[in-house]
Amino acid sequence: MSPSTSTITAPEPLLQVRNLETWYGPVVAIQGINLEVPAGVVSTVLGANGAGKTTLLNTIAGVIDPFKGEVLFDGQAIHGKDADEVCRRGLVLIPEGRQVYPFLSVDDNLAMGAFARRDRTAIGHDLQRVRSWFPRLAERAHQHAGLLSGGEQQMLAIGRAYMSAPRMLLLDEPSLGLSPLLTHEIFSIITRISSETGIAMLVVEQNASIALRNAQTGHVLELGRIVASDTCEALLAKPDVQQAYLGMGLDTGLSGQTRWKRRKTWR
Ligand code: ATP
Repeated sequence: MSPSTSTITAPEPLLQVRNLETWYGPVVAIQGINLEVPAGVVSTVLGANGAGKTTLLNTIAGVIDPFKGEVLFDGQAIHGKDADEVCRRGLVLIPEGRQVYPFLSVDDNLAMGAFARRDRTAIGHDLQRVRSWFPRLAERAHQHAGLLSGGEQQMLAIGRAYMSAPRMLLLDEPSLGLSPLLTHEIFSIITRISSETGIAMLVVEQNASIALRNAQTGHVLELGRIVASDTCEALLAKPDVQQAYLGMGLDTGLSGQTRWKRRKTWR
């Protein structure tokens, strides 16, 4: 077939967010948000405190209803649907602060992830897979989840989400409160899970350095709006991103956030 008669269609992104806007009463938290995540891709959203990262993930996951805009998952509109319905469709949120069940054992937490599934054999295989990714969870299978360290609880939250057989995970600040070593460990397992299983990931992070070095595409959120979207390689090369998030270039303030607040324009 000649090029003029053939129809070349790029695969539809797994997640599409269009002109999304969310308010808390009279306060607008995010507006005009557009982003896409193709199947199998790890994408990140960077932003300072209060930029709207959690609001964005919660709106996509159905925890909060948007004021306007669309969220399409696998081509189907999911905005305004309940969080459990969104989860059943394979889009699973791992909330900020992990939120494991502290008085249940590690194994029972993992079983809770699979509660809506009936495919017992596949559940068994998935459990083995979680244990191979996180040997520490296997060692602590019968321990209360509340007694795990922060890093282990993050592993458990990821494992529990995987047990629900997701097609995409939304991770809210997986590095929160973790040491640099554990943060690296968590991010390397996130990329490993995505490359081994094809699960897409949208990771919200304040630790820009590690997020940009592990994801393929990135979005910078500033005061509720996306101000830059590109490949992580291109974002890492942008002077604004280097100055605001990676502590390079500008005079050294107390933190990347201090420098970020001084900058009003992006190029
Ligand atoms: P952090 O990194 O500190 O978690 P964030 O980027 O996740 O911040 P959000 O928690 O989404 O930001 O907050 C975005 C804006 O919405 C902030 O101005 C915040 O004060 C406001 N906000 C968040 N939750 C509520 C709420 N329940 N009621 C009113 N305003 C809220």
